[in-house]
Amino acid sequence: MKLKANRKRAERVCTQCDTVIPRGEKYGQKTKSIGMLQTSWGIDRRPTEEIPDWAWSTVRIRKEFDYCEKCSIENGWVNS
Ligand SMILES: [Zn+2]
Repeated sequence: MKLKANRKRAERVCTQCDTVIPRGEKYGQKTKSIGMLQTSWGIDRRPTEEIPDWAWSTVRIRKEFDYCEKCSIENGWVNS
């Protein structure tokens, strides 16, 4: 990863150590794929009875996580 400066108006929070990354500070981003359970029904079309096991499927979604400069370097993610 490459460290970038936080240009977002809002502060970011490091996923690993919960340090707040203020605007202008450097941070790194990693994309992780996480599994989520989903049914074949839309959220408001679900049957009222209990949803059977077969109706659930795992979908993997990709999500970006922010990390502070220190954690990025300590994990060896920063390529120089
Ligand atoms: Zn951190």
